[in-house]
Amino acid sequence: MTTTPPTHETDDELDSALVTARRQLERAAAHIDVDPGVIERLKHPTKVQQVSVPLERDDGSVEVYTGYRAQHDDVRGPYKGGLRYHPEVTAEECTGLSMWMTWKCAVMDLPFGGGKGGVAVDPKSLSSDETERLTRRFAEELRDVVGPTKDVPAPDMGTDAQTMAWFMDAYSMQQGETVPGIVTGKPPVIGGSYGREEAPGRSTAIVTREAVDYNGRDLSDTTVAVQGFGSVGANAARLLEDWGATIVAVSDVNGAIYDPDGLSTHDVPTHEEEPEAVLEQDAPETITNEDVLELDVDVLIPAAVGNVITADNADAIAADIVVEGANGPTTFAADSILAERDVQVIPDILANAGGVTVSYFEWLQDINRRQWSLERVNAELEEHMLEAWNDVRSEVEAKDLTWRDAAYVVALSRIAEAKATRGLWP
Ligand code: GLU
Repeated sequence: MTTTPPTHETDDELDSALVTARRQLERAAAHIDVDPGVIERLKHPTKVQQVSVPLERDDGSVEVYTGYRAQHDDVRGPYKGGLRYHPEVTAEECTGLSMWMTWKCAVMDLPFGGGKGGVAVDPKSLSSDETERLTRRFAEELRDVVGPTKDVPAPDMGTDAQTMAWFMDAYSMQQGETVPGIVTGKPPVIGGSYGREEAPGRSTAIVTREAVDYNGRDLSDTTVAVQGFGSVGANAARLLEDWGATIVAVSDVNGAIYDPDGLSTHDVPTHEEEPEAVLEQDAPETITNEDVLELDVDVLIPAAVGNVITADNADAIAADIVVEGANGPTTFAADSILAERDVQVIPDILANAGGVTVSYFEWLQDINRRQWSLERVNAELEEHMLEAWNDVRSEVEAKDLTWRDAAYVVALSRIAEAKATRGLWP
C-alpha cells in the first residue's frame, strides 16, 4: 500500500540521528507545499549548549564529563525532551534527537518544541551518590538555558524519575522557590504525574492496536516480538498481552526468550525491576537479539536502541508491521527497503509519543498545582493518541504516504503554519 520510491538502499555507515533526521525532513518536505526557507531553518537547531560537568568521585578523585543541551525549535512552545546519560552522547546525537522531539510534539499537537541533552558518561560506572552530584552540577551548568517556560527536560536513556528529582531540587534551590515545572518525569510525590513512567509503552501498545485494526485484524490473532524489555518494551508487551495479543519473544541486551505459544510477560522482570534478567526466565527457546528482529510475526516492536533495522537486515524483517518503540531504530536506507516491501513502519514520533504527552499533562498539573488521577491521565492519553493516529492515518490515505512520511507531513504542516504566522524576526 505504500508507494514512496526508495531513495537510498545502503547504509554507508550507520547514520547519526542528525543525518537521519535531516534526510527524513527533506523527504517529507517533498510531499507538502512549505516555504523552503522554513525547511532550511528546521535543518538547524536554535542552540546547542555544551558544558563541562566536573564530578568528585567517591574516592576523592575528580573527573570531568561533557554535557549538552540541544534546543532545536520552539515556535510552538518551550523546548521539550529528555536528558540521557550514555557514553555515546554527542552534540550531534542530541541535535538529531532534539529534531525528532520537535516533530513528536507537533504530531501530538502539544504546545512544545524540541530539545534533547545528556552527559557522555556510562551511568553504570557511577554510584548513586556520584549520579546525584553529577546531576546537580549538570542542572547548575544548564540553569541559564532551561526553565519551566523555556526548556523542560525529562528522563531518557540512563536517567529516571530520581534523576529528575535531583535536577528539580538543584534548580529550585538556586531559584529560591520550588519549581516543579522545570522537569517532567518526576516522582508523583514532588509533582510528577501518575502514569508518566508507563506512558511511552502504553502509547506504543495503543498505536499497535490501532495498526492491527487498520489492517482488518484482531489482536487476539496477532503475534508480537519485542526487542528491549525496559520501560517502553515491557509496558507495551504487557498491555498488548492483556489486550489479547500473543507475545512470542522479548529480549534484553543479552538475548531473547521465545515461545511460539506466547510468553507471560508480567512474569518477566523489566530492566528497572531486575536488570538483564530476561534470559533467566523459563521458555522453550532462547534466541539472539538479531533473531528477534527477523521472527515471522505479525508485529515487531524494536524498543531498545537506535539503528537496529539497517540495510543489512531490512530484507529479512518478516513482520507485516513494525512499531517503533525506541527512538530511531530504523535507518533511512532500511526505511526505504521496508517501504518497497510494503512493511508498514509506524514511526517513533507517533508510537512512543505517550511519554512526552504525559509530560505535557505533568507540566499542566505543576502549573495548576493540581494532581490528576491515573484514570484521568490514561483516558486523556488514549484520546490524544487516537486523535494523532487519525490525523496521520488521514495523510496516509489522502496522499498514499508511508506512515513516517505522513506523521512528518502532519507535524511539518503545523510547525510551518506557526512559523509563517509568527514571521521571521527581525
Ligand atoms: N525522552 C522521551 C522521548 O524521547 C520523553 C521526553 C519528554 O517527556 O519530554 O520522547
